Amino acid sequence: MDRKKVIAGNWKMNMTASEGAQLIADLKANCDGSCKCATAPEVMVFPPFTTIAAVQEATKGTPIIVGAQNVHWAANGAFTGEISAKMLVEMGVTHVIIGHSERRQYFGETDETVNQRVKAALAAGLKVILCIGETLEQREKGVTEAIIEKQVRWDLADVTMEQLDNVILAYEPVWAIGTGKTATNEQAQEVHAFVRALIAKIFCPVCAGKIRILYGGSMKPANAAGLLAQPDIDGGLIGGAALKAADFLALIKAAC
Ligand code: PEP
Repeated sequence: MDRKKVIAGNWKMNMTASEGAQLIADLKANCDGSCKCATAPEVMVFPPFTTIAAVQEATKGTPIIVGAQNVHWAANGAFTGEISAKMLVEMGVTHVIIGHSERRQYFGETDETVNQRVKAALAAGLKVILCIGETLEQREKGVTEAIIEKQVRWDLADVTMEQLDNVILAYEPVWAIGTGKTATNEQAQEVHAFVRALIAKIFCPVCAGKIRILYGGSMKPANAAGLLAQPDIDGGLIGGAALKAADFLALIKAAC
């Protein structure tokens, strides 16, 4: 099945509003013909909440999708520091990252809270990039597939086949995020194929053929082509390399 590739930049806690607008201006200024290829990927950026409005303004008239890095499951209430799906939707946000390993590692997110966030986001009409991935310790113990299966089953519990059309998965081995260590093409493809087969088992074979599974973990211009050439890798969720216009543009071109 033909799946449109995705190049998504997770800006994490980087880029003030003015810096974010400048990064978009640099992307626009340097996007020559080759980054608008016929098979151009969907390009997404996920700035911090306070930078979203400036980036929406800066991306007007471009196909760049502007998303958020997290969402709470409640519609409103006493949840200091959180943002609801309704708030995102009202400001025109269409996509949200959920379950990033940094949220799980540093902010106590569990598969249960990730699942609640996923369900609330989908119910509000948002499209979700759901992150999954094993730690180094888990990989070394040989339990990568068991961990991935647990995350996929739990994080997507009660999600319908119809709703799955609005989910993109991101396989991000925790040991490769921000470390400069990348999974080899073979390591990444192996897990992506496993995830796709799992989606076929849990949902349906057609769902598995349709769902896009991104790789994340130190993807950069030097390793992108090999990863993106794998049959089950449908794009990248990119941290560090998404903060430099030249690198991000090179990744977009690599996905053409
Ligand atoms: C990420 O934040 O999802 C990520 C993959 O980061 P990096 O590309 O910096 O490893």
